[in-house]
Amino acid sequence: MHELIIIGAGPAGLTAGVYAARKQLDTLIISENVGGQTTWSSEIENYLGFMYITGVELVERFEEHVRHFNLRQEFGRVTRLSRIEHGFRVETEDLREFDARAVIVASGKSPRMLNVPGERQFRGKGVTYCSTCDAPLYAGSEVAVIGGGNSGLDAAVQLLKITPKVYIIERTDSLRADEVLQTKAWAAPNVEILLQTLPMEISGDVTVSSISVQHKSTGERRVLPVRGVFVEIGLVPNTDFIADLVKLNKLGEIPVNCAAGTEIPGLFAAGDVTDVPEKQIIIAAGEGAKAALQAYSYLVRLPAMAAPPVMRPTS
Ligand SMILES: Cc1cc2nc3c(=O)[nH]c(=O)nc-3n(C[C@H](O)[C@H](O)[C@H](O)COP(=O)(O)OP(=O)(O)OC[C@H]3O[C@@H](n4cnc5c(N)ncnc54)[C@H](O)[C@@H]3O)c2cc1C
Repeated sequence: MHELIIIGAGPAGLTAGVYAARKQLDTLIISENVGGQTTWSSEIENYLGFMYITGVELVERFEEHVRHFNLRQEFGRVTRLSRIEHGFRVETEDLREFDARAVIVASGKSPRMLNVPGERQFRGKGVTYCSTCDAPLYAGSEVAVIGGGNSGLDAAVQLLKITPKVYIIERTDSLRADEVLQTKAWAAPNVEILLQTLPMEISGDVTVSSISVQHKSTGERRVLPVRGVFVEIGLVPNTDFIADLVKLNKLGEIPVNCAAGTEIPGLFAAGDVTDVPEKQIIIAAGEGAKAALQAYSYLVRLPAMAAPPVMRPTS
């Protein structure tokens, strides 16, 4: 049994890992990837110490820092977190089990799906959830962006520079993005903004060739000849595996107290997966640090008989 398992290797999980390692806790990080959402960010200008850095570069710096410490890492999708005697059990999709005295959940958020026919079939074959990663692949092709909020318009503004036509599809009667993005979008000669419009079906052969959409009040249907569909309708917390262990808030986030603790002793959470307001890299990293320090305090105070040996920090 490990002393600590950290689920997730985004800014929150990796920072928690560094702090846990400096406290010499026997720590295992389990994650599907390294970096999380930070790898999707093209430009970061608000992480202290870096005036400007791309998301991919910042994650490389994180990895370099984490490699410095003696941390075990396993890759896999966590499907269940449950309580066992003296701690917790983490189960992964490929049927592995890992036990620990304490757990930090730092599983962040994932893109919300449209749930229309064709979406799953063409995922990665024209349907994408990351404009920063994939926009360059669609240079020269007509594309549709679903969502008129900040993420949608941010994607559209990137795509307008490299594609002949961008359809922006928004289900309400107005765009919700910041003025500066809206001004750029409305001014572009190669944009068509479809308000009060719902995506109905994504079609194609091997890859996407069109999306059909429907006007909400007139019922008029159109088939838009696009090769790319950028789904930008928000993010959902990755809490499926914990939903029957803790009571989530109405957004599906894990409620935490100011010490990153959940309602269950020994279970901590940090970063975008929690109800802490403002989802930012620096905030996730700070919360990850706090969660690791709190996990350490929890572990050193466990009754001597039940507790594994916990080394005291050297600094
Ligand atoms: C396009 C975009 C641009 C952004 N730009 C900025 C910016 O400029 N500045 C800024 O401060 N913030 C920015 N953000 C927000 C920032 O990226 C997040 O706040 C931050 O990454 C949250 O970190 P996190 O560690 O909590 O979660 P995440 O980054 O979401 O990491 C979650 C980790 O958990 C793992 N995971 C998830 N589910 C499971 C599971 N079931 N099993 C195993 N592992 C799992 C993932 O693989 C990942 O490693 C941006 C976000 C986006 C989407």
